[in-house]
Amino acid sequence: MSSNVTIRLTLDSSAVSRQKPSKDEDWGLNESALVLTIFDVGAVKAQLDTLDCEYQDRSIKSFSGTFRLIELYTLDPLNNTIVFANKPAFPSLLETPLSGPGSVEDAAKKMGKCKKIGVLTSGGDAPGMNACVRAVVRYGISKGCEIFAVYEGYQGLVDNGIKKMEWKDVRGYLAMGGTNIGTARCMPFKTREGRLQAAENLIKNGIDALIVCGGDGSLTGADLFRSEWTGLNEELLENGRITQEESEAYKHLTIVGLVGSIDNDMSSTDITIGAVTSLHRICEAVDSISTTALSHSRAFVVEVMGRHCGWLALAAGIATGADFVFIPEKPPVEDNWADTLCAVAHRHRQLGKRKTVVIVAEGALDKNLNPIKADDIKDILSERLGLDTRVTTLGHTQRGGSPAAFDRILATIQSVEAVDAVLNSTPETPSPIIGMSNNQVTSGPLMKAVKLTHEVAEAIGKKDFARAMDLRDPEFADQFDAYTATTILDDESMLLPQHRRLRVGIVHVGAPAGGMNAATRTAVRYALNRGHKPFGIYNGFPGLAQGSVHELTWIDVDGWTHRGGSELGTNRAVPGESVDMGMLAYQLQKFNIQSLLIVGGFEAFSSVINLEKAREQYPSLNIPIALIPATVSNNVPGTDFSLGSDTALNAIVDSCDAIVQSARSSRRRVFVVEVQGGRSGYLAVEAGLASGASTIYIPEEGVNLARLQSDSRHLMAMYMDDASDKSEGRIILRNETASKTYTTDVISEILKDEGHALFDSRTAVLGHIQQGVNPSPMDRIRATRLAKCSIDFFEEHTSAALERAYANNEPVPIELSNATESAVVTGLSGVSVTYKPVTELIAVTDMKNRKPLDAWWMVHRPLVDLLSGRGLFTPQAQATLSHAKK
Ligand code: ADP
Repeated sequence: MSSNVTIRLTLDSSAVSRQKPSKDEDWGLNESALVLTIFDVGAVKAQLDTLDCEYQDRSIKSFSGTFRLIELYTLDPLNNTIVFANKPAFPSLLETPLSGPGSVEDAAKKMGKCKKIGVLTSGGDAPGMNACVRAVVRYGISKGCEIFAVYEGYQGLVDNGIKKMEWKDVRGYLAMGGTNIGTARCMPFKTREGRLQAAENLIKNGIDALIVCGGDGSLTGADLFRSEWTGLNEELLENGRITQEESEAYKHLTIVGLVGSIDNDMSSTDITIGAVTSLHRICEAVDSISTTALSHSRAFVVEVMGRHCGWLALAAGIATGADFVFIPEKPPVEDNWADTLCAVAHRHRQLGKRKTVVIVAEGALDKNLNPIKADDIKDILSERLGLDTRVTTLGHTQRGGSPAAFDRILATIQSVEAVDAVLNSTPETPSPIIGMSNNQVTSGPLMKAVKLTHEVAEAIGKKDFARAMDLRDPEFADQFDAYTATTILDDESMLLPQHRRLRVGIVHVGAPAGGMNAATRTAVRYALNRGHKPFGIYNGFPGLAQGSVHELTWIDVDGWTHRGGSELGTNRAVPGESVDMGMLAYQLQKFNIQSLLIVGGFEAFSSVINLEKAREQYPSLNIPIALIPATVSNNVPGTDFSLGSDTALNAIVDSCDAIVQSARSSRRRVFVVEVQGGRSGYLAVEAGLASGASTIYIPEEGVNLARLQSDSRHLMAMYMDDASDKSEGRIILRNETASKTYTTDVISEILKDEGHALFDSRTAVLGHIQQGVNPSPMDRIRATRLAKCSIDFFEEHTSAALERAYANNEPVPIELSNATESAVVTGLSGVSVTYKPVTELIAVTDMKNRKPLDAWWMVHRPLVDLLSGRGLFTPQAQATLSHAKK
């Protein structure tokens, strides 16, 4: 045999002489086997034929239909099996190992660029901390850094619990809750002596940068540590604990903060890592409680975490349709808040509700700073309203479980930014904190963020609640107003004058998407609060053409917040294409619909365009029309997010976690998972990032042979690099329209074929599972906000015509608005709600491929491959390596 032979597995050391197996037995199943991976199994077969040796062979059918020999089994003199397996002919791939000699890290070290970065998680654990560690480790390594995990938070710094991390150490981290590197409350770090010890350990380990993921306490500690660094360094030198060279080499410490906190209580970021997952847990609990509350007609008071921050309580209140919430930053304005609570609960009961849910943050206060406790609320509801009331304290369930898709993505993109911040920092740069503002990753001064965060508690202490609200992110105040306007103030205090009241039609268009019902519920209830009459149009535009229009009452939409699918019934038919426009105009006029709210996806967008175009022809279409984007594909122009897309991401990520587990448990297997998205790669990119896919296929890039070859080579390299006794599962996500030729089955067959004996391949088409069962909390909250704003939009665009008619004592006109600005997409742009006229959006839309021309999420695309190890095999990585070798 040639020198190309590589031994993959070693001989079972217990190999003994065995009875010769019969020819009918599968020799491959022999317990004692030596496996040799070689380049040409065919040559071995020819040799064995010449020697007249017995053997068994295994061939696989290639995609073209021909059979190819991949394995040979023969017996040694002791009757142990010798396996010859085909080795793929890509030896060069293995020249760039993930770590150790010859790796990218090694290359960077030789070039003098290697930074040694410590990563720690501290304070209360938060789901997504593991995703942070994974991204810091992998992105850091890809940049040629050495990454060290500091175990048990600051305690690991003090006790020298520091371990170098390799690429493979963080495998599977994305799906895990809590923090695998541990966290602790560390009292010694609060003392200078403790921090001195921590500094010594850092210097002795050669670490010159720290990425700290924690809450405001941890980041306060980080900031203090960095501000003291020069003094600590000098003291260590004076005491002889470090050498002069060490003191010189570690003059500066770089610190970057990542906010891991379930409370969402940090200033300078719109959202913290872990808060959304915690909200998932709360909503699951409240949804479950709701069914028992409904059955027994009970009241439940649910206490959620949040000492100084009411984000979780407020967000949960919106997402579960709770009757009342209590938060620290915005206490009830009345002294007698118990009266208000009872009035609201009583009103809702009178309207026909069988359950009452009150959500209270653990730090809730009245306006005189007296705590409002769950038990007090229970007593009030029981004694004054006679409600059978129970208290549920959710406690630590809120911290647990696998992170939601949102937190996995947030943690990943922020950690990448944190590593970049380390690499770009200079001794003069102040320590940054990585945040999120307007759907963009940001980097701002850590010290300022910590100071502002402490100011919230101080403002509350001084009863300056306006200031406390100001210090929260802008969405918080908006959400509070939306909640109050749609829930608490349903007491006729918000009624418009008679002549301004409208008849509002609501229709669902396209495929079902999580949040459609939540949007409809808010639209109905808010419309009723304002004195409007909401009408449900059943079964989309065909339903409207048939006059399937019914008035909706407050109680009709009860419980819709957490229901998936479409309660009104949805239909893909587009006006003017598959439904007669004249008939629609007739029905709108017949029912005197004065504003039309459409909830749906790209068909709904096309519908608004067609309705707007037909306005000249049909007077009854001259009414404000607003589209709330709702589609799993997130392909409606005029919004960053459509309803249903977050629910779909979570459904995909949950499925992928299960698939990876199955793949790993059975054998070395790659699953090609087909996801929806139409001609938009949004779901594949974001779910790929959140589930740690090896790569993704999206329509924006297409698929070709070169790409498939390179991907199969990458997978082979990864499987070759795995420990031989481990069976790893991997996934690839393929958007349903990525390629006409390379279907999910074709790709899987090619991989199976190319994978030789290294790995197997299977497919999983997720299909309608992606619509999810219950909408995610994010979708429910987005739905509430967009629906409230759409009703506001209708009022604004009808006020001129209605006031004019009223002033002139004329009948209300059919045509209330024909301006192009009154046919819009009500969308989310960062944290703001925007109304973008469809006539303007056409210019930024790829109508043929049914998606916006611009896709903000494409910036995440390269990270999917990079974090799965592919970046290490790119030409750039190879170039770095060869440059370093010179
Ligand atoms: P969180 O980071 O979740 O707010 P803590 O407030 O408990 O949690 O802080 C976590 C750890 O951060 C503490 O146990 C301590 O080691 C460190 N820390 C907090 N505040 C300070 C401080 N002012 N000075 C030094 N270290 C601190």
